[in-house]
Parts: sequence; C-alpha cells; structure tokens
Amino acid sequence: MDAKPPLIEQVRACQICADHLPFPPRPILQFDSQARILIAGQAPGKAAHRAGIPFNDVSGDRLRMWLGLSRDEFYDPTVVAILPMGFCYPGTGKSGDLPPRPECAPAWRGTLLDGLGQLELTLVIGRYAQAYHFGSTQATLTELVASWRQFWPEKVPLPHPSPRNNLWLKRNPWFERELLPEVRSRIAEVRAR
Ligand code: SF4
Repeated sequence: MDAKPPLIEQVRACQICADHLPFPPRPILQFDSQARILIAGQAPGKAAHRAGIPFNDVSGDRLRMWLGLSRDEFYDPTVVAILPMGFCYPGTGKSGDLPPRPECAPAWRGTLLDGLGQLELTLVIGRYAQAYHFGSTQATLTELVASWRQFWPEKVPLPHPSPRNNLWLKRNPWFERELLPEVRSRIAEVRAR
C-alpha cells in the first residue's frame, strides 16, 4: 500500500485550483514544524512567483527591518514559517493582484497550522489573513492594528509593509514608535527559548 507523501510535498504538488491560476501552480510557502514565529500573509505576487521566494523585495526588506530579523533568520524555516492565505500567485485584476484563491486555506491551512506545534507568535498581514486569524470584523486596518494589545502576545495585526502603505505609516506614527519595539522584543524573547 502506498504511503501518503509528507504534507509539504502534497502542498507542493497541489493542483486544486490550477484552472483558475494564470500560471501553473507554484506554491510559495516556508514551513518547518520547529518554527515558533508565523507570518500569515495574503498571496504571493508575480515577483515571488517567478523567484519562488516570498518577501524577496522592498516590502520584505521593510518587514525584516520591522521584525529585527536578518535575511538568514527570516528565511530559516525552523525560525519563521510563512503561510499566505493562498500559496500560488492568483493573477492580477483591474486594481492590482487578485485575492488569494479561496480553495487554498480550506484545503491546507488547518493541517499546516496544526503542524506548528512550537508556534508562539503569529504576525498577521492583510485582510484575508486578518479575517481568518482574528475572525471577521468590521474594523478598519487602522482600528485593528491599533487594538493590537487585545491579541498580545500570541498574535499581532500588521499593515502590509509595501511602499503603497507609506502614507498609512506617516499618518500612524504610533505604529513604528509603540508597536514595533514591542514586536522586536517579543521576537527576541521567542527566539531565546
Ligand atoms: S493556490 Fe493553493 S489550492 Fe490552489 S493550486 Fe496553489 S496550493 Fe493548490
């Protein structure tokens, strides 16, 4: 009798929504059962799809700076798991990248999260991930991020680190002044265990 391949190989071979994707499926995720930190994001963009590497751009540079992690630390799957809501690039619509494919999270997310037995901190980026990890809410991004103490110390809502959010960052200086130092301390604490 054939044994099932390991979970991560099953994900990498996934074709569930292939008919709806602009390119053949290329799931972009980082996973190891030892990871204590999870970045829960939206879906890879075209650059991540091409490179096969998540957050390998200016948004990723800003995210690493926010978290106080080097590239080596960020891309060490035993330190950081990266699980977007949709693992494959969903394509682009009239107003930017399309939402994560809705088939993905029901197919894989629960099982992968169950496999993160050491998880201590989840950083949640983008409204689809925020709806999944915080439950559906009417709160705006600003309201949700401002209520970060409500979820502390297990989960933290973050804005997307894209340069498109520069204005948001300028309008909400408390984010970099108050929240980010706490996040960096928390990450250092989690990593020191
Ligand atoms: S987006 Fe998710 S469900 Fe769709 S093919 Fe990729 S891994 Fe499979």
